[in-house]
Amino acid sequence: MIKRAVKAGRVTIGGGGAVTVQSMTNTDTADIEATSAQLSALEKAGCDIARLAVRDKRDVEACGTYIERFGMPLVADIQFDYRLAVACADIGFAKVRFNPGNTSSAGVRELVAACKANGCPIRIGINGGSLEKDIKAKYGGVTADGLAESAIRTVRLLERESFSDIVISVKASDVRMTVDAYTKLDRLCGYPLHIGITESGAGEDAVVKSAVGIGSLLLAGIGDTLRVSLTGDPVREVETGRRILRAAGLEKDYVEIVSCPTCARCFYDLESLVAKCAKLTAGVNKRLKIAVMGCVVNGPGEASDADLGIAGGKDKAVLFRKGGVIGTYPTAEAEEKFLAMTEELVRG
Ligand code: SF4
Repeated sequence: MIKRAVKAGRVTIGGGGAVTVQSMTNTDTADIEATSAQLSALEKAGCDIARLAVRDKRDVEACGTYIERFGMPLVADIQFDYRLAVACADIGFAKVRFNPGNTSSAGVRELVAACKANGCPIRIGINGGSLEKDIKAKYGGVTADGLAESAIRTVRLLERESFSDIVISVKASDVRMTVDAYTKLDRLCGYPLHIGITESGAGEDAVVKSAVGIGSLLLAGIGDTLRVSLTGDPVREVETGRRILRAAGLEKDYVEIVSCPTCARCFYDLESLVAKCAKLTAGVNKRLKIAVMGCVVNGPGEASDADLGIAGGKDKAVLFRKGGVIGTYPTAEAEEKFLAMTEELVRG
């Protein structure tokens, strides 16, 4: 279902618009040099929205500098103290992530007043690890139903104050539970959903886990903004998030390199040619499909819609474009021509 559009600074979350990619700094928020450098790196990597953990007044002060320096919308991540959330809304954060579940009614009213006055949305972030005791008792532990119920209960607290600039997340580190929770929530409410798998770990396993969870949701049409949670450099989260969007067909302006796994029919160094091609096309925001195939048996046919392709033979290789053959050349010459033509396409 198309969700309500919620504005976080220059970025709209929901409303049927593009799915945005978020990340979170892991430097000391009060360390202006380190955090500014990380925010710059995130912005450069294509991060749409960046979140910072705000732990105290010192952090709030430092964040004033980041809000001034960066056009990328910044989100304050606050635990427990609603007064910090109020301070963050007041200094111009584009969004706050805060769960008003354990806050007094007066506190919720104060927070909502500050957010309304500053046009600052609130993300309710429900996590498996911090689910309310009574919900866990009702469902016999952390479950998808419990996560969705906790989110709806928290949403009602804000709706009671006539606040509707809400984004919701319901993350667990269990992929199936997370997907089920979002699927339920998607049917239950019209607020935009921030999707992700929490604490997914490090390395390739974490990337695969996030891709399966986030990818399943995106293919089902669920999710308005995403964060890939990976242990390590947050730039990798952004790169992975963008790759997931591309694989799901939700981001088109990039160079897709199609290459075969190779088999005994491949007689040239396809792997190094793919690496050269990837280097030439890295970061290019242009819709192009380049095919690097191991042989002429299947190559040109399987990549018939490529803007440019090469298929190796024993001593010769074929270059092709949109299914039509450009020519057959000795392998080394074909590789050279192929890379030159790739460069031309990228520049043109
Ligand atoms: S394209 Fe040719 S070399 Fe590559 S996997 Fe298929 S048959 Fe093997």
